[in-house]
Amino acid sequence: MQIVIAGGGFAGCAAALQAARMGAKVILAERTDMLCGTGAVGGIMYNNGRYTAAGEMTAMGGGQLFFIIDQNIRHRNVEFFGQAHASLFDVAKTGAEIERTLRRAGVDIRLKTRIISVHHLWKNEGKQRLMAVKDQYGAVIEGDAFIDATGTGGPPSKCRGYGRGCVCCILRCPVFGGRVSLCDLCGIEEFSAKSQGKEGAISGSCSLMKDSLAPQIVKSLDEQGVAIIDIPKDLIEDHLALKACRQYALPEYATHIVLLDTGHAKMMAPWFPLEKLRKIPGLEWARYEDPYAGGEGNSVRLTASVLREDTLLVRGMENLFCAGEKTGNFVGHTEAIVTGVLAGYNAVRKAMGKSLWAYPQQTACGDAIRWIGQQMETEAGRREKYTFSGSVLFDRMKEKGLYTTDMGQIRQRVGMAGGENIFALMP
Ligand SMILES: Cc1cc2nc3c(=O)[nH]c(=O)nc-3n(C[C@H](O)[C@H](O)[C@H](O)COP(=O)(O)OP(=O)(O)OC[C@H]3O[C@@H](n4cnc5c(N)ncnc54)[C@H](O)[C@@H]3O)c2cc1C
Repeated sequence: MQIVIAGGGFAGCAAALQAARMGAKVILAERTDMLCGTGAVGGIMYNNGRYTAAGEMTAMGGGQLFFIIDQNIRHRNVEFFGQAHASLFDVAKTGAEIERTLRRAGVDIRLKTRIISVHHLWKNEGKQRLMAVKDQYGAVIEGDAFIDATGTGGPPSKCRGYGRGCVCCILRCPVFGGRVSLCDLCGIEEFSAKSQGKEGAISGSCSLMKDSLAPQIVKSLDEQGVAIIDIPKDLIEDHLALKACRQYALPEYATHIVLLDTGHAKMMAPWFPLEKLRKIPGLEWARYEDPYAGGEGNSVRLTASVLREDTLLVRGMENLFCAGEKTGNFVGHTEAIVTGVLAGYNAVRKAMGKSLWAYPQQTACGDAIRWIGQQMETEAGRREKYTFSGSVLFDRMKEKGLYTTDMGQIRQRVGMAGGENIFALMP
């Protein structure tokens, strides 16, 4: 069994680890020189409903990436506007740790390898089976099943068309080439979120260099994980409507600078003009770490979701699965891991000729994946953005009684739904 995964963000890494654990030969192609994708500048975990989803994954035996992240947590139980029990991981170290774990598990990680074309696509009566893809060096990579975990960030044409141009973000398209979607290469239609009439959404946070902040802010970050600073009225910038992360689109994020300690000082604003930022007490020397042009804008995302089954099999394909943001404007590391593990699991089952599995509907993960899939069938639903940590999906979790931080209750729910340790057992 050979499983080929395009994209080494959290979704691709989770898929690769799960497939390798099941005994498959796994090739993970990542176009940049490191893993984690946008997760390399993220850092917030376990906030609001993400706690429940991560707990379910652990109970299902698919929590390996959470375990690695837990080894690299800088702060636990951090609270900030609308967010409870968040943990902040070290964004510099976590990706390297994940890479080591994947290599130990036998994953063939091919960095600086960008899948750019389909080499062999078998077609019959409206169904398509992907047989082989090609990377930028012309190497043909064959597979029994494929996973599109290429995310939805960039390429630069989207940032130029719907944002403020390339802002030099972590995806580094000018050097490594822009995102190329496996689904798009197979002719699968892709959908875009919409914000204020524009395609996609703007990434909702930046990073400042911690060294460029005043000592009292650094102290607060080191000791509490968070620093909240009032923005003087005449300096307020309101970009809330454009944000990809709806959980951080509350008015408080427009009137305050919220900084979180992820190793960087993660600033919960999509962008903020540097000359204005430096007028705020304590930020007189502030400098952007990500994106480098964070004073001018941020990357455009969420322009490449596809229709897929609850099993994450891409609609219209026989052996192509999707994971991460592609599964329906589904935003977050936890969300990427939840979908990545399932895609990896089902890719192997497909290669073995076994039936595909979906998360039970009684679980928060199962309900989210089915509901988002249904939302993606409608024009209004496609415009939305989804996350366990806030906005419409978290509201739904609470309404349906699915949100809990009680691990005993989570284990019981997973057990009663027949999902206990499912990812650890051979199919
Ligand atoms: C600035 C920023 C901060 C964020 N902060 C947080 C946070 O604190 N907490 C949180 O939960 N979420 C956060 N998010 C959201 C979160 O990072 C993403 O929703 C999630 O990690 C997406 O994972 P993914 O694997 O689907 O996509 P991505 O992270 O985009 O990964 C896709 C990968 O595919 C690669 N790729 C693309 N095309 C190809 C190709 N053809 N061949 C090979 N490789 C390819 C890319 O290089 C990339 O590494 C943040 C996002 C951004 C942009």
